Amino acid sequence: MTKIAFIGLGNMGSGMCANLAKAGNEVRAFDLSADAIRKAEEAGAKGAPSVGAAVEGAEVVVTMLPAGKHVHQVYFGEDGVTSNAAPGTLFIDCSTIAVEEAREAASKASEAGFTYMDAPVSGGTAAADAGALTFMVGGPDDGFARAKPVLDIMGKNVFHAGAAGNGQVAKIANNMLLGISMIGTCEAFNLAEKLGLDAQTFYDISSTASGQCWSMTSYCPAPGPVPTAPSNRDYQPGFAVAMMLKDLRLALGAAEGAGAETPLGGHARDIYAKLDEDGHAGLDFSGVMKRLKGEI
Ligand code: NAD
Repeated sequence: MTKIAFIGLGNMGSGMCANLAKAGNEVRAFDLSADAIRKAEEAGAKGAPSVGAAVEGAEVVVTMLPAGKHVHQVYFGEDGVTSNAAPGTLFIDCSTIAVEEAREAASKASEAGFTYMDAPVSGGTAAADAGALTFMVGGPDDGFARAKPVLDIMGKNVFHAGAAGNGQVAKIANNMLLGISMIGTCEAFNLAEKLGLDAQTFYDISSTASGQCWSMTSYCPAPGPVPTAPSNRDYQPGFAVAMMLKDLRLALGAAEGAGAETPLGGHARDIYAKLDEDGHAGLDFSGVMKRLKGEI
């Protein structure tokens, strides 16, 4: 039994927090939304009235927040985690934030006597609810050893990606590749169809040929070949355009800072930014197919 503070009980955090409580840990939960706290209580956690109250006496703090500014505010802001946690408390931030923001948080936490691990996730709300997330973890070896048993409850794959920030590096590099490969897959299916080759036949060939990729075989953007894909429910997410755009912006910002050339990553970001601007932020990211067909 571990004493855990869980902060950020949204779409992802609610299921993750519930799984920690279900596994027999003493979990104190806080969110800005009273409703979210009530739901966490129903799932077996104890509601806390503030960040400070959640963190008091905790051995581990887990956060699942929208973006870097929230993470920095929760950890280092007035009456935040660092001013209330006992020395040596382990911090695990599962939010997707910029690599630099994660590295800065790790060094500020370390100066204050804490270990901070960045542990962003792959997998959506269904995986969060089912305890089947993949965690990509950055931070020191001893922090990883302490974090792993907690992450194992919420996930099925837990990778140590290296030093502070490397979890975020793995996350954004992977998702940049995903954005690019999805657009490429949409273009290929659209081209095949325009030239008279139906989606199923093209799928049967390409999924066993060199064009095969996850965007095709798990998430096919053409309706039909993969029944569970969002394309079969008019591109309801799944993984929304807004989420892909967030990750691509993080990837492109980090690439610029590191001097890494990412021409296709930049193009993918622009395509998703245009969809977002045009009011399609809530569409699944495979909905690029609808744009190529001129439907949106
Ligand atoms: P969400 O907006 O549903 O949840 C965030 C929660 O944080 C909200 O309940 C909000 O009230 C709370 N919050 C914000 N500021 C706070 C503060 N100062 N103190 C306490 N609580 C605060 O977001 P989400 O979909 O759960 O995503 C969380 C993170 O996970 C994001 O970084 C996102 O990029 C990442 N992520 C999401 C998905 C997904 O499918 N939703 C998948 C992978 C990664």
